[in-house]
Amino acid sequence: MDELPLPETTSGTGSEQIFTGQGVSPGVARGLVCVLASDDEEPPVWNIEAEDISSELSRFETALLTTRQQILDMQARISEAIGARDAGIFDAHLLVVDDCTLLEEVKRIIEIEHFNIEHIFFKVAMRYARTLSEIDDPYLRERALDINDVMRRVLRNLMGKASRSLDHLTEPHIIIAKDLTPSETVTMDRDLVLGFATDAGGRTSHTAIMASSLNIPAIVGLHDITSQLRTGDHILLDGYAGKLYRNPSEQTLWEYGTVEIRREAVQESLFQLRDTPSKTRDGKHIILSANIELPQDLEVVLDNGAEGIGLYRTEFFYLNKEAPPSEDEQHENYRLFAEAVKPHSLIVRTLDIGGDKLIDSVHSISEANPFLGWRAIRFCIEQPQIFKPQLRAILRASAHGKVSIMYPMISGLAELKQANAILEECRQELRAEGIPFNESMPVGAMIEIPSAALTSDQLIHEVDFFSIGTNDLIQYTIAVDRLNERISNLYVPTHPAVLRLIRTVTTASRGAGKWTGLCGEIAGDITLTPMLIGLGVDELSVGAGILPRVKRAIQSLESVECEAFVEELMKLDDAAEIQRLCTEMAATHYPELFE
Ligand code: PEP
Ligand code: MG
Repeated sequence: MDELPLPETTSGTGSEQIFTGQGVSPGVARGLVCVLASDDEEPPVWNIEAEDISSELSRFETALLTTRQQILDMQARISEAIGARDAGIFDAHLLVVDDCTLLEEVKRIIEIEHFNIEHIFFKVAMRYARTLSEIDDPYLRERALDINDVMRRVLRNLMGKASRSLDHLTEPHIIIAKDLTPSETVTMDRDLVLGFATDAGGRTSHTAIMASSLNIPAIVGLHDITSQLRTGDHILLDGYAGKLYRNPSEQTLWEYGTVEIRREAVQESLFQLRDTPSKTRDGKHIILSANIELPQDLEVVLDNGAEGIGLYRTEFFYLNKEAPPSEDEQHENYRLFAEAVKPHSLIVRTLDIGGDKLIDSVHSISEANPFLGWRAIRFCIEQPQIFKPQLRAILRASAHGKVSIMYPMISGLAELKQANAILEECRQELRAEGIPFNESMPVGAMIEIPSAALTSDQLIHEVDFFSIGTNDLIQYTIAVDRLNERISNLYVPTHPAVLRLIRTVTTASRGAGKWTGLCGEIAGDITLTPMLIGLGVDELSVGAGILPRVKRAIQSLESVECEAFVEELMKLDDAAEIQRLCTEMAATHYPELFE
C-alpha cells in the first residue's frame, strides 16, 4: 500500500550541532533527514503555560487537517488501484478525525492539565480505544483499531515523523530510527537511502553488518537521536567516525571535502594490493577471506582480491521470503558462490536464525532472551525439515568447487556430534540417490560460546577446522548484549578473558594439526591485527570493503614480533591497557591507515 507523504521540511538553517555514536559502516552522507516513527512509542510529555494552549490547539488542528487530507489521498489512490469497496475502510478513519466528542474531550483536558497536545491527545485516544476494545462487540472492537491507527497518524504529523514504511520515499534521505531490523535494512533502496542512524544497536548488530555489506554509511547507538532530529533537518553523517552533524557549518563541509580526497587516495593505493599475497614480512600466510551476506556482495568480494569466502551468513538468503528456500534454490545459490570464488574456498555457515534475526517463515516465536534462546544449531537440530534441505544443498554444491560447511553456536561435544550425525544421514541419502558431492568436504565448528572454547580440545576431533565468532564470543564471555548501546563500553574485544579463550582455541586446533579462522567483526579491526596474528589465528574473514586495509596491515607485520607482543599482552589484566598497546603497535607499523 502506498504510504503517507513526508511531512514538510522543518529546517535547513541554524547552528551546527554534533552527535556521536558508533560508526558501523564507512562513508559520508549528506542530505535531508527522514525520522521513522516507532509505532509502540509514547509521545514525549512537557508542561505548557496557559497562554500556550491556543498555539497547541492550532498545532492540533493543523495536524488533523493534514491527517484528513492524507486519508482522503490514500482513499483515492486505493480506490483507483483496487476498487472503491476496499477503500471504504478509510471512511471509518475519517469518522475518527471528525469525531466531535473525542476532539472536544482533548480541548477540555488541555485546559485543565496544561500538557503538550501530543500527550493529551495520546491519553484521550488511548482511553477511547481501550473502552471500545473491552466491549463485547466485533464492530466496536474494529473501531478501537481505527482510533489507534488514526491516532498514530495524527501523532506522526504532530511530531514531524514519517511512517515506518519507506515506500513513500521518492527523494533520497538519511533515515533516522529508534532501531531497524536486519530485514528492514536489507530491503532499503540504495538510491533513496543515503545513510542511516539509530538510537539503539551496537557494532556487531546484524543491522550494522548489513549496512556495511550494502555500503550504506551508518551510525548506531546514538541513544536519543530520534527525539533530537526532525524530518527535513539537514545533516552530514560520518559513518567512519560515528559523528552526525545537524546543520553542518561551512568549515565542517570543507573539512569533509578534503578528508574525502585523502581517503580516496589511500583507497586507490590499497587497491593496488589486490593481487599481492596476504603474508607477513617474515612470510607467514594469513588467509584473508571475506564475509558475505547477499549475492550482490560477490562483486565486491572478487574486486577486493579475497581468498575466498570465510563466512557465508546464509540466513539472509531466507529473509523476507514467504517460505524457506527449497533445497534446489539453495543449491543453485551455493553453487554460484562456489564457482565464483574458485580456486578459493567457500565456507557456508548453516542457518543461524534467532537472536536479532527473526524470519517469520521459519522461526517466529518470541523469547525473553533470544540470544540465549532457540537459536542457530539448537533450532536446526530440532527442525530437520529445515536443516536437512540446507545440508543436502551444501553437500551438492561441494561437487562444483571448494565448499566447506560450518555450524554456528556449537556449545559442546554432544551437540556437535548430533549435527554431524544429521550431516551423515544426508550424505547417505545422496549416495543412495546417486547425487554427486565431495565425500571429504571439510566440516568446521564456530566457536562463539565460552563452553565451546573451553572444550575445544575435545571438539577438534569431530571437525576439520574452527572459526571463532567473536561477535558472539565476546557477548557471552563478558555477558554483554551485543545490541545494547547502554553497555557498549563493556563490549571490549581486548578483555583478558577473550584473549585467553582465543588462545585456548588456536592451541587446541594446532595441537591436532588443524587450523583456526576468525570471522567476527574484530577480524577487520586493524588495531587488533597484530594481536590476532600473535594469538595464532590462521585465517581472518572480514567485510569485503575493508579487506585491502587488513591486507596492508598483515603485510606490514612480522609474525614473530606479533607472537612476542602477545606474550606481553597475556600478562596484563586491563582491557583498556591492552587496547592502548594494540593501537600503538598498529600505528607504528602502518600509520598511513590511520589517516
Ligand atoms: C560472530 O558471532 O562473530 C559471527 C561471525 O556470527 P554472527 O555475527 O552472524 O552472529
Ligand atoms: Mg555469531
